[in-house]
Amino acid sequence: MSTQALTEEQRAFVEAIRDFARRECGTREQRDALTDHGREPHNQPLYERIAGLGWLGAAIPEEYGGAGGSAVDLCLLCEEFARGLIPMGFFPVTMMAARPVELFGSQALKEDILGGIVRGRTGAIAMSEPEAGSDVGNLSCRAEQSDGAFVVNGQKTWITGAHMAEQIVVVCRTTRSDDKHHGLTMISVPRDVTGLEVRGIETMGWPGEVNDMYFTDCLVPEDRVVGVVDQAWMQLMAGLNNERLIIAAQALGMGQRAFDDVLAYVKERRQFGQPIGGFQTIKHRLADLACELQATRDLVYGVARAVEAKPDRMLPREASMAKLKATELAKRIALEGMQMMGGYGYATEYDMEAHVRHALVTTIYGGASEIQREIIARSLGL
Ligand SMILES: Cc1cc2nc3c(=O)[nH]c(=O)nc-3n(C[C@H](O)[C@H](O)[C@H](O)COP(=O)(O)OP(=O)(O)OC[C@H]3O[C@@H](n4cnc5c(N)ncnc54)[C@H](O)[C@@H]3O)c2cc1C
Repeated sequence: MSTQALTEEQRAFVEAIRDFARRECGTREQRDALTDHGREPHNQPLYERIAGLGWLGAAIPEEYGGAGGSAVDLCLLCEEFARGLIPMGFFPVTMMAARPVELFGSQALKEDILGGIVRGRTGAIAMSEPEAGSDVGNLSCRAEQSDGAFVVNGQKTWITGAHMAEQIVVVCRTTRSDDKHHGLTMISVPRDVTGLEVRGIETMGWPGEVNDMYFTDCLVPEDRVVGVVDQAWMQLMAGLNNERLIIAAQALGMGQRAFDDVLAYVKERRQFGQPIGGFQTIKHRLADLACELQATRDLVYGVARAVEAKPDRMLPREASMAKLKATELAKRIALEGMQMMGGYGYATEYDMEAHVRHALVTTIYGGASEIQREIIARSLGL
């Protein structure tokens, strides 16, 4: 978003995050120390320091200790954390898990979970299963009611930050019917509950990011239900603006960082007696990417402003457009950045190869690009 469109307070907020990123994560040595050499996406002590600055609660309602900010504030936070390479990898998913709690949770759950975020706790949300990825409504992890509790059995997979979350919002099947979207229930499961095993999955991105979760006769009290039994699908739909905007803003920050890095590189690197940024093939590509970034920023913050104006309005088409465009752009900039840096883009000595690995998956999680295109096409009557 152009800085003119931000309030004075928001501009100061962005500047404070940038300043923090420069001081704490500005060098490769600092980032290596904070991430165990690129293995850990999330540094909890740093996260708790950031909580102490009051930033994590920027978009949490005031009654739970937050600042009561809007979708725009949340996007600014996610964008700047990503752009600054601040290792707070579980913040975006924490805010995705928080949304249904804020909209539908009991007062006790809100105080516990939303208040916990403000103080530096992380959360997670578990929808995906081995047989339910894009077709998430097909999920089969069962929760059966018994004596004031739910007994959960089944598996979840790909769950970001489940190993660190204090509680995980798990979407379970409570009723079977012909309509697969009916009969799903959200349950906030404490990570240390008996009958839950969390096991890491190695990926090319961050080794310490995603997990399998195995439930075996796992007993969770009924008061951990988020919202209404059997109505989780509607509750998930109500959180989609928020989820897609968070991923879009994060991808925007990733793309901007890859752009910043390659721009600095092409100004320094000399071949044939001149900086390579002087070659038309490189400067025109960067000019094109700068246009794409500006247009995508306008799109993402345009949707965030629409949500800010009317938080309950569903914007499936616009939110999908923002997610699709920002994630595909982050991937493109990282790949082009690598090409423009030649062999050095491929070397682990520089950040660009990590930008590529981290940007690639943004077009897969949170609804793959193909699914976003399906939603947009449906809005066109196709
Ligand atoms: C790093 C990472 C973090 C994740 N974090 C979480 C998390 O915190 N919580 C959670 O619940 N899940 C999480 N996920 C799961 C993620 O949301 C799924 O991976 C994603 O929805 C795709 O599902 P899938 O991997 O099973 O692929 P599939 O659904 O098997 O899709 C495979 C391919 O087929 C395409 N395809 C599928 N259906 C259609 C269709 N109808 N039309 C056109 N193309 C189609 C897809 O677009 C894709 O290209 C994460 C995944 C990753 C990789």
